[in-house]
Amino acid sequence: MNVTDLVRRIPKGLFIGGSWESREQAFPVYNPATGEVIAEVADASATDGLAALDAAVAVREQWAATEPRVRGELLRAAYTRIHERADDFAWTMTLEMGKPLAEAHGEVNYGAEFFRWFSEEAVRIDGRYAVAPSGRARILTMKQPVGPVYAITPWNFPLAMGTRKIGPALAAGCTVVVKPASATPLTTLLLMDVLAEVGLPAGVVNCVTTSRSGAVSAPLLADPRLRKLTFTGSTEVGRGLLAQAADRVLRTSMELGGNAPFLVLPSADLDRAVAGAVAAKMRNIGEACTAANRFLVHASVAAEFSTRLADALAAMTVGDGTRDGVQVGPLIDEDAVARVEGLIADAVGKGARVLTGGARVDGPGSFLQPTVLGGVSADARVMTEEIFGPVAPVTTFETLDEAVALANGSEFGLIAYVYGQDLDEALSVVERLETGMVGLNSGVVSNPAAPFGGVKSSGLGREGSYEGIEEYLETKYVGVGLA
Ligand code: NAP
Repeated sequence: MNVTDLVRRIPKGLFIGGSWESREQAFPVYNPATGEVIAEVADASATDGLAALDAAVAVREQWAATEPRVRGELLRAAYTRIHERADDFAWTMTLEMGKPLAEAHGEVNYGAEFFRWFSEEAVRIDGRYAVAPSGRARILTMKQPVGPVYAITPWNFPLAMGTRKIGPALAAGCTVVVKPASATPLTTLLLMDVLAEVGLPAGVVNCVTTSRSGAVSAPLLADPRLRKLTFTGSTEVGRGLLAQAADRVLRTSMELGGNAPFLVLPSADLDRAVAGAVAAKMRNIGEACTAANRFLVHASVAAEFSTRLADALAAMTVGDGTRDGVQVGPLIDEDAVARVEGLIADAVGKGARVLTGGARVDGPGSFLQPTVLGGVSADARVMTEEIFGPVAPVTTFETLDEAVALANGSEFGLIAYVYGQDLDEALSVVERLETGMVGLNSGVVSNPAAPFGGVKSSGLGREGSYEGIEEYLETKYVGVGLA
């Protein structure tokens, strides 16, 4: 890949009403593997954000009235075009976010798949006709697009977190303003390029890149023409946005932080459990909301599981994700390395043993060694906070009740992983877990055909699957009176 040429080809402006608009003010995008600036992109103001909403509002009715088949075909064309430009997308993600190229290609597939899935859902929006119990009325329901949507996405899955929102919104007949994270705007800009290439009408999707996300978002959230906020990011920022949305009783979908417990039951197949642990922990350098955060292992297998997990992580190749064979890229920035180092130090201070790793890797770039900690106390911050890095803290339990209590003892409830071959035992644990998702003998659950989302402080709503499009539809009930 000719990186200079790729970066030159990515638009750097704001995408408003189908046009690319440059701005005097710009902000830099860094490559976390080198610390170098990759590109400068337009820095939207609050006025720009409202201009993007103007554009989305202007074509709102026209898009809602566009034949579902046409909406679906446009999404399908974008799905195909993303695959045709898979190298562009994968390299862009690796350059701005750091994930190894093989994983970036995995995200191209995963991200594109939301456009394919929702291209198929666009033509399946339906309603009901029912006879009222009295027999003297008819109940008619129809699903209608909720209206203009504001989508805010995080940096960790720069493509998939956008397509998971834009796909169902467009399928439902909603227009969109999307604001990507300032750390990784280039992938979203490339996605806008693809949507323009396939002929999406001007204004249906608009994109504002900004270094002032709060200042740009607040007027949008206060504007009565906006009808929906869909956010993926941290619980802390999500809480603030929910408070703003509450003023207008704005409809929201919230995909927030996680603190996934990974339970290894006494009956677990350890080969599968270790492989699943590596996948659930190390996917995306540990920077995933679904990342296994706490390993709760039955005392009878804890020593063997910990040793095998430490061996597996120690054998992983850390480095610049564009290099062949690299499995673990850099963390998003230096602050992230310092924060995770702090979590390790806190755990060690409270009695944990470092089984492998434990230190940063010399720069340039923001790298941290894959780390396994044993004997971690329940009050260590690494157990209670979202780590967002390649660190696996292990603690033990004696009884299933204790395991469930530990697993549920968190404000978060996005996902849990359970490994066990005894089905009765494993299912009884699964049923008691307070999470929106469970990986049962599986370290990866993300799938466009599955409802993704959390409970408790991990969020509201579901993305993907049949549920995903419902987030962008309102049900209108028509009571038909009969003489
Ligand atoms: P973040 O700091 O909350 O940022 C998420 C998005 O919100 C970014 O676009 C950010 O823009 C924007 N933002 C920040 N402050 C804002 C404000 N006051 N008003 C409006 N927008 C604002 O999260 P992150 O660090 O990018 O992502 C990591 C977090 O996302 C983790 O907690 C992870 O668990 C969560 N996540 C959840 C899911 C899920 O499906 N549940 C999936 C992926 C990630 P700027 O960065 O430019 O300020």
